[in-house]
Amino acid sequence: MEQTFEGGCLCGAVRYRVTGPVQASGTCHCRTCRKAASAPELPFATIAVKSFMIIQGRPVEFRSSEEATRSFCGRCGSPLSYRHDSTPETIDIMTCSLDDPDAVPPTHHIWASHKHRWTVIGDGLPVFATTRPA
Ligand SMILES: [Zn+2]
Ligand SMILES: [Zn+2]
Repeated sequence: MEQTFEGGCLCGAVRYRVTGPVQASGTCHCRTCRKAASAPELPFATIAVKSFMIIQGRPVEFRSSEEATRSFCGRCGSPLSYRHDSTPETIDIMTCSLDDPDAVPPTHHIWASHKHRWTVIGDGLPVFATTRPA
């Protein structure tokens, strides 16, 4: 799907535009994503870095592990993106930061082995204990 999406943080200080196809759309239950979102899971959409453009403001970046960089709004704290050093050509944007998250519904769950005991996955989508097999 070749579409243009826009999104941003809660307070509006940071805005971004996506001008390319979504390569994958999932939701992650890993411990780090849960902490970063302060939520039971973190839905993400994978796109090419070249399709991603910050159009307003400047997100803050930090290393959430030895290989990963996350960005968020330094004013309101909304998580915005995730990048892994092993895949420098792609970036994951946080689906719920999009203006229309319904346009990019998750197709699978990853890191279900980390999920809270009280998280019940009942949407019928494929569930992977760790990452999705290639
Ligand atoms: Zn903000
Ligand atoms: Zn995760």
